[in-house]
Amino acid sequence: MSDYVKDLIAEVRAKNPNEPEFLQAVQEVVESLALVLDRHPEYRAAKILERIIEPERVIMFRVPWVDDKGEIHINRGYRVQMNSAIGPYKGGLRFHPSVNLSILKFLAFEQVFKNSLTTLPMGGAKGGSDFDPKGKSDMSIMRFCQSFMNELYRHVGPDTDVPAGDIGVGAREIGYMFGQYKKLRNEFTGVLTGKGLNWGGSLIRPEATGYGLVYFASEMLATRGKTLEGKVCLVSGSGNVAQYTVEKINELGGKVVTLSDSNGYIYDEEGIDAKKLAFVMELKNVRRGRIAEYAQEFKSAIYTPVDPKLNYNPLWNHKADCAFPCATQNEINEIDAQNLVRNGVYCVAEGANMPTTLEGVKVFLDAKILYAPGKAANAGGVATSGLEMAQNSMRLPWTREEVDTRLRHIMKSIHQTCVTVAERFGTPGNYVNGANIGGFLKVADAMMDQGVV
Ligand code: NDP
Repeated sequence: MSDYVKDLIAEVRAKNPNEPEFLQAVQEVVESLALVLDRHPEYRAAKILERIIEPERVIMFRVPWVDDKGEIHINRGYRVQMNSAIGPYKGGLRFHPSVNLSILKFLAFEQVFKNSLTTLPMGGAKGGSDFDPKGKSDMSIMRFCQSFMNELYRHVGPDTDVPAGDIGVGAREIGYMFGQYKKLRNEFTGVLTGKGLNWGGSLIRPEATGYGLVYFASEMLATRGKTLEGKVCLVSGSGNVAQYTVEKINELGGKVVTLSDSNGYIYDEEGIDAKKLAFVMELKNVRRGRIAEYAQEFKSAIYTPVDPKLNYNPLWNHKADCAFPCATQNEINEIDAQNLVRNGVYCVAEGANMPTTLEGVKVFLDAKILYAPGKAANAGGVATSGLEMAQNSMRLPWTREEVDTRLRHIMKSIHQTCVTVAERFGTPGNYVNGANIGGFLKVADAMMDQGVV
């Protein structure tokens, strides 16, 4: 590591002492970018890295709301507008009790590079709240979403900042927030993506992150003459990304044997076929139940509850070919990564954002397996949000085939960028460097063109 990079990381650490996730994301990117700065001293002179690390704007606000019994609750809302060099801010909203500034800054930072990789004109942002939607009635959720938008509407707009969903924010929440924005502004615009099909949403948007992830994994496998046909796959999570990852793996002939939620995971040796996936979708999207119920319904499955005493996650300790972490950040640590490699996994594609710790990433890179970081592999979601924005601007919807073809093309192009850039900078096969540098160059050049702002 060069002295410049070491000093920079030390400075970021000193300035943001209580932000471990943000530091982790910065460290991973900055280490890749050392390769670029050696060749491009002009970026260093213009302090591009120092600027890209500092959010353009952070908005933090009170979200008061009233529950069904009339009790008042106060949550904290955020929007981190990280970088707008190549387009309006774009990135999801997360509602989860773990949400804090560190997590949203790491997500917004990653989003800048991811959005650049998609080839579409989108800056990077992220937002959300420490609100926990679990177990709340639809009416409580609606009142919370309306209160959240009562402040957020001042800071977003179709040409300024276009939020989408993330953990805890799906079609229902986007609907309530869109309704409130429309009432406050008296305008019908594409201010959010992930909208319902009848009111400006795009076909394939719900499927896009999962489908795109599997398209990306297929591209990686093809570099080694392989396909997903007959491959055993581990998937974590059971939300939006996990569900459509399973659907696409099944379509391409693979077999998924795991799914999880924050209480535990199921292992189904026979595979989670279309019928079982339909059960999971109803369980998670309609009844909003726990994954443990899967093992009660299907006797071929074993349920293992989370054991907080373990220093590894048993989900990642099964024989398999491919792994798709689709739950949350840091769900694969060094031991998990070692277990995966030892159990024969040679392809890891990240559906979640930063699901692997820095130590875990090192294990994958040292083992020279196919490893794709989330900012490349899960970019299909935001890319299709970009396509939703394009359709909203034209006021014309595209067909399912049209959107899916464009998504497939974008994932292929992101894969190609990763491969070419990694090679150009002397680290062939390293998708981490490929994604970080590929995403960085376009944003850095735009920042150079636009002066010190
Ligand atoms: P959902 O809310 O639909 O699903 C999240 C899943 O992950 C649930 O099964 C949830 O379980 C589990 N989970 C969440 N937090 C934890 C935790 N702390 N420990 C264990 N399990 C947890 O979210 P998405 O599917 O949309 O998002 C999943 C990941 O994909 C996130 O990292 C997100 O940032 C990323 N992503 C999402 C995109 C999208 O388009 N939606 C786009 C790109 C990335 P439980 O129900 O118990 O909380």
